[in-house]
Amino acid sequence: MPVTRRAFLETSALALTGLAASAKAHAAPVPSNHSAPAPPTIVASRNGIRGVAKAYEMMTKDQADPLDAVIAGVNIQELDPNDQSVGYGGRPNADGVVTLDASVMHGPTRRAGSVAALEDIASASLVAKAIMDYTDHIMLVGKGAKRFALDMGFKEQDLLSEESRQDWLRWRSQLSPDDDWLDHEDDIVIERPGGTINMCGVDANGDIGSVTTTSGLSWKIPGRVGDSPIIGTGQYCDNKVGAAGSTGRGEANIKVCGAFLTVEFMRQGKSPQEACLATLERSVAMTEDRLLDGKGRPMFSLNFYAVAKDGRFGGATMYQYPDEYLEVLPGRGNYAVANADGARHEPLQYVYDQTQLPGALKDRMMERVERIR
Ligand code: ASP
Repeated sequence: MPVTRRAFLETSALALTGLAASAKAHAAPVPSNHSAPAPPTIVASRNGIRGVAKAYEMMTKDQADPLDAVIAGVNIQELDPNDQSVGYGGRPNADGVVTLDASVMHGPTRRAGSVAALEDIASASLVAKAIMDYTDHIMLVGKGAKRFALDMGFKEQDLLSEESRQDWLRWRSQLSPDDDWLDHEDDIVIERPGGTINMCGVDANGDIGSVTTTSGLSWKIPGRVGDSPIIGTGQYCDNKVGAAGSTGRGEANIKVCGAFLTVEFMRQGKSPQEACLATLERSVAMTEDRLLDGKGRPMFSLNFYAVAKDGRFGGATMYQYPDEYLEVLPGRGNYAVANADGARHEPLQYVYDQTQLPGALKDRMMERVERIR
């Protein structure tokens, strides 16, 4: 008798049930306060302020699925040319090519999808979701991912905006005084910005979805993949506990599987806030010497955001921003939240206060302040 594709998948799934049953026996206990239905809540990185409002409205007014809602929230940044850290208009790699990373998780069905080093398709989060919805795989990368997206009907477009192209040309001209590139006609010093959007949402039934999408580290070595598309690192969601995600130095997050770890800390009973801080502390403990200052503090920043199944939420970053910096760039040190109290920014908790900021990091911030002033 010919085996249909459906029958094959069901048989394969059955073959794995023994494994699943034994894994269940070892699952960590879930605190009882995680079982109550939630007040609908969305958390996101700072740049998700418009997105959390949209996702909240979709979840509460249209009864949208929590993953569909948070993806619609991050699509705003993916399609916005002025957000130079995500999707269309994202800053390119060292060769001037924009490559995108994204991942999603759907709590109620325990599914995940992810895409890395994707070129020419702006909505990487939707490509990650399509991989989840239409394939038996979790992650596609590079040329194969683009081919898949085109087959699924996504439209190809040049993702390099004029502003990001100019930034890349400046960066390249400033790389070395000895190379053959003359300095760019203006002398704006070009930084090496990161940036990403993470969004996690829990609906009134306690169902959870999470997404992270990014163009990754600016000027990265072609082929570099960050934390955002790695399930358990850029974001993670367990429908029994909550969801978490990250922005900031991806290389530091990958080593601690930060989103997974944050959800596991919540499973053990920590609040979302405590869980984010505990993950940052783990990341410091796992940092190699060359990235630590003389006092053992990391020379980079990393952020985590989390929401629990019962609607509690939190966010934390490595360093408190100096007051002078916040005067010029208000809103830094915050993350975005939407719940029954509206959509707003909330302050991130931090591991180190501003008196503990390593001198070199502070100098970098102050240079930025001077340039903006
Ligand atoms: N986490 C991103 C990456 O490493 C960058 C960022 O959020 O700044 O690709």
